[in-house]
Amino acid sequence: MYIESKAFIDWIVKELKAKKLPNKDDEYICNCPFCDAKENHWDYTINTKKMIMNCWRGFDPRCESGHTIPTLITLYYDIPFKQAIDFIKKNFRGEDSLQRVKKRLKNIDERRILEITEEKVVWSMPYESESILDAQSKKAQKALRWLLDVRKIPLEVVEALEPRYLGSDTHKKWERYRNRIFFPVSSNGNKAWLAYSTRKKSTKKNPKTMNPPGHILACTFYLYDWYVTSDEPILLHEGLFDAVRFFMFGFNSLAGWGTTVSSEQIELLNALPAKEVVVCYDPDATKLKQDKKGKWTCRAYKVAENLRNYYFGDVSVMKLTRDDPDRTAFKEAKTAYENRMRFGDRFWRLRRLKENLR
Ligand SMILES: [Zn+2]
Repeated sequence: MYIESKAFIDWIVKELKAKKLPNKDDEYICNCPFCDAKENHWDYTINTKKMIMNCWRGFDPRCESGHTIPTLITLYYDIPFKQAIDFIKKNFRGEDSLQRVKKRLKNIDERRILEITEEKVVWSMPYESESILDAQSKKAQKALRWLLDVRKIPLEVVEALEPRYLGSDTHKKWERYRNRIFFPVSSNGNKAWLAYSTRKKSTKKNPKTMNPPGHILACTFYLYDWYVTSDEPILLHEGLFDAVRFFMFGFNSLAGWGTTVSSEQIELLNALPAKEVVVCYDPDATKLKQDKKGKWTCRAYKVAENLRNYYFGDVSVMKLTRDDPDRTAFKEAKTAYENRMRFGDRFWRLRRLKENLR
């Protein structure tokens, strides 16, 4: 879902009587619809490019902390969030991702584009792989021990993740993927996998993770299908094991395969009932550095900015200063996990949810 700025500008001009600032391309001002209906202070600014609004008076609780389009519509019409989204879809909807891709790739055969963006992409697991849980081969048993002892993932969680192992005695087409743990990845109909090597070092010839050829992982999140009914905030991680760690605590964790988000992934996020995304990257992605224009920023902020433009909920960045999420989580994992075993909680609820999906 993309918001067309022209439709939005038409609305603010008609509805809020906004006026364009003479020297700035994307900035409009108007009287704050919440705290300044009569006094004409012209203190409410609207950035139509970033699609964020701010009241510089903030005399009303509704305009204290600035607005995105969904929050503005929710408060302005005093309607539920979901209804506001419907309003935006109906009135401000821009061209969708398919149209944008088509425009960008004018010369490419249309059928190929449809395959990428509209039809669901499915990459099945190699049938020769064996389930890690009832591993027969020695190598697969070793891989299970690696998950339990080195990555410290409890057996119950391994069971829920359903990893498989691909040995060396397999068809030649799987040559590059041999001796790896396959983690199934499923997001709203797109199905793929990630083949993880248990070796310590990543080399050019033998990288740590391998995925199916093509665009597929950019259309998916790890653990996505598990949260289709939860409205709690989504934690967005870099890698699969970060997401699994926080998942063990009962968070709505997703892994987005690195420090970027694609437009397909943002559409997936918009399809979930959660209203907030917390970008939760490793410290090297949240450490501020000066860019070419002299602005202090980091990769996590860039992702957050991208999300703020197209994601309909709130976006924040979680800064982890000392440890990477993996270790922070691990420190408390034992107690949390023991409590979980004692009281039974959201982890089991999520697992049941997953079973319902099948
Ligand atoms: Zn105000």
